[in-house]
Amino acid sequence: MNFTDQEIAKESTRLFEKLQHVGWSEPDCQLIAPLTLEINQLKKKRNAVILAHSYQTPDIMYGVADYLGDSYALSMRARETTANIIVFSSVYFMAETAKILNPQKTVLVPAIAGCSLADSITADDVRGLRKAHSNAAVVTYINTTAEVKAESDVVCTSGNALKIIEGMRENEIIFIPDEFMAKNLQPLTKKKLTPWKGRCIVHEEFSSEAVKEIRQEYPQAKILAHSECAPSVIKEADMMGSTEQMLRYVDTSDADVFMLATECGLSDRVRTEKPGKKIVGSCALCPYMKKIMLKDILQCLQSPRPEQIVELPKDIIKKAQKALNKMIKIVSL
Ligand code: SF4
Repeated sequence: MNFTDQEIAKESTRLFEKLQHVGWSEPDCQLIAPLTLEINQLKKKRNAVILAHSYQTPDIMYGVADYLGDSYALSMRARETTANIIVFSSVYFMAETAKILNPQKTVLVPAIAGCSLADSITADDVRGLRKAHSNAAVVTYINTTAEVKAESDVVCTSGNALKIIEGMRENEIIFIPDEFMAKNLQPLTKKKLTPWKGRCIVHEEFSSEAVKEIRQEYPQAKILAHSECAPSVIKEADMMGSTEQMLRYVDTSDADVFMLATECGLSDRVRTEKPGKKIVGSCALCPYMKKIMLKDILQCLQSPRPEQIVELPKDIIKKAQKALNKMIKIVSL
């Protein structure tokens, strides 16, 4: 598509207003302006909505996304959307969740991106766990494949996991697949949690030593850690939660300095959306999330390859829907 110099200049200015906070220059924004213009035009033409996870790159989040959020917030957007096409700019299991919640829509993924947690467990493993713990309910973190969700009693997110555990009538819970999250939740409930051995390769990078160093260097900083971090990191933090809870904490806190022990995309969001707040310490990059680029979004909107169209067997959709709907019901109580 051809755009006039005036259209490109206007788009560059729009992009620069946001992206300057994360180190983008005006020439950088000029370079991507024709691409974001084309994606946004095509999105309207095809009645598509772009959902982007908070761990996506800033050019995607502020250039073309209609909604930003964590897996729960985006799942709810996917469930309610009236658009014909959902482009899910995130890892594959999230796009599957959108398909489960709104199966009549076309769900597209710009790139096939896995996740170390989702890849850590199979439906067979869940059946094995059920056999070994016949009185337990299976509570499954949303970072899992559709097949694993279909074998579960209920799904949860990092933001609502405790509420879901407490909302189950069983006292024994098989909590899958995140080992650290199960260990972080165990002290908060009287129920017995049986963990799986899955780990997020991004959050396991954080160490309690690094957190202590930041504490010494910036005694005024609040340290927020995602519940996928190791228990030793959580012990040193001021708050444990999901990305949405971390953003809310930053919003409502009187503090001006924060360390976010999570993927770098969230620090980018704080720098862009809350420029008065300072981020210190290091963050970690998710190689799966960062696989997606603007050019992939354009390509999948123009002409998706078969593997970019999310399809799931009907029985898997039905069973996984039941586990997801149970989560939504418990959250609404
Ligand atoms: S940050 Fe961790 S849990 Fe999230 S997609 Fe990447 S590997 Fe998976």
